[in-house]
Amino acid sequence: MYRRLIAPGALAVSLMLAIPASADGYSPGAPGIGDPYYPVYGNGGYDVAHYGLQLKYQPTTDLLEGTATIRATATQNLSRFDLDFGLTVSEVRVNGAKAAFTTSGDEELEITPARGLPRGAPITVVVKYSGTPSDVELFGFTSWMRTPDGGIGANEPESAAWWFPSNDHPLDKATYDVSIEVPDGTRALSNGVLTSTTTRHGRTRSTWRSDRPQATYLATLAIGKFDVSTAKTADGLPVVNAYSTDLPAATQDGARASLERTGEVVRFLEGYFGRYPFNAVGGYVPNVTAGFALETQTRPFYSPKFFAKGPNLSVVVHELAHQWYGDSVSVHGWRDIWLNEGFASYAEWLWSEDQGEGTAQELADYVYAQHPADDPFWTVAPGDPGPTHQFDDAVYDRGALALQALRNAIGDHAFFAILKGWPQQHRYGNATVQEFEAYAERVSGQRLGALFDTWLYQPSKPAAPAAQAAGVRAAGTPAKPASWTGMARGHGTR
Ligand SMILES: [Zn+2]
Repeated sequence: MYRRLIAPGALAVSLMLAIPASADGYSPGAPGIGDPYYPVYGNGGYDVAHYGLQLKYQPTTDLLEGTATIRATATQNLSRFDLDFGLTVSEVRVNGAKAAFTTSGDEELEITPARGLPRGAPITVVVKYSGTPSDVELFGFTSWMRTPDGGIGANEPESAAWWFPSNDHPLDKATYDVSIEVPDGTRALSNGVLTSTTTRHGRTRSTWRSDRPQATYLATLAIGKFDVSTAKTADGLPVVNAYSTDLPAATQDGARASLERTGEVVRFLEGYFGRYPFNAVGGYVPNVTAGFALETQTRPFYSPKFFAKGPNLSVVVHELAHQWYGDSVSVHGWRDIWLNEGFASYAEWLWSEDQGEGTAQELADYVYAQHPADDPFWTVAPGDPGPTHQFDDAVYDRGALALQALRNAIGDHAFFAILKGWPQQHRYGNATVQEFEAYAERVSGQRLGALFDTWLYQPSKPAAPAAQAAGVRAAGTPAKPASWTGMARGHGTR
């Protein structure tokens, strides 16, 4: 439903990426980081280490004012570089000196420092800005969600440009300090740990620190009237959950009955994926009309729709599974989305299996039978779905089927060794589907090229998984597992 199309002119931009160096050896950084799905996302020429965001927000008008302090390192001799941003910039400084800037295209903020930046040099960029994010349309859409009492920054693959300037692509991860001032009585939430709260003159400033590498689309900002619950997991991880005070009572109850089990779900997932990779956990349920959830790092965003009919643990399992598969280990490019969605969906099946509500094999049989051979579902290749199909059901459901097929082919021992080993192997980094395929072959000692080709790339319905549950074929149509009704599928579960 938030379908992303490559912006008009994107191809032209991608052809410009190789910009010749000037006579002095300094040249502009590329306006895109090199993602074939989204050629203008991210930028070249530098690597960000840290974002320090000092913000003020006015819930009645949606006015956001900010100063971003970005610490980065030049990766080439830079005469100019871009940040990705949609609000109005009033001043830019690079290493203390005022820098010239212009805006072009949908979100390119072009910055020309007073003097060139040599490769390897530390760069501190300060950007002062303001704007009303809900008025900003980039690539034909807005990611900022206005609520009756505030606003929410959460979307995929793009949401940062509505509230802070960045190198907006998962390949350039960084740590974050997000400090935000709002009127008393309004809450402001972000990722990680709340490090300070100060109140004066009727305004409250909250500062959040996310101290492990974090992709830009996984940074989140939530302002509104929230009930906030805090706790600690059995391992001592701080838990912060927040619920909009405006939600209907039944939705509140369903949300609390789900999110308050976050610590238990993390413990369950650690059994499969290894130690939880971050130092905080939780989630929030704002008063939005959007129908998706998102794995914003350490603090997933949940649409209240997931909880309108009662508790929904599947969506909590899904978003928390992403903390390993998606957040700690991020896509290298957006074509690698199966590494996020296939695995988070499969985690729901593991939870179902554990709860006695249907085994992963029963769920696989059910999903497989739901889609006849002529269903366009099978034309989407989870291993390279293309930008217009990146969040199609097939990336999730066929993506999870691919993992069940892998499990059946190599056996539980090797399969679960892979599920646990992979997040260790690429912790806090990025990885490709091809790297996963090679890793699975290495751990299992089997050649798996044909299996991955069948399940991830062929535009047709594969023959059923080899070890399909006994009795299914005899019975004809697999029964619907008990857990299925509780799952919010497809676009609803990002
Ligand atoms: Zn997801």
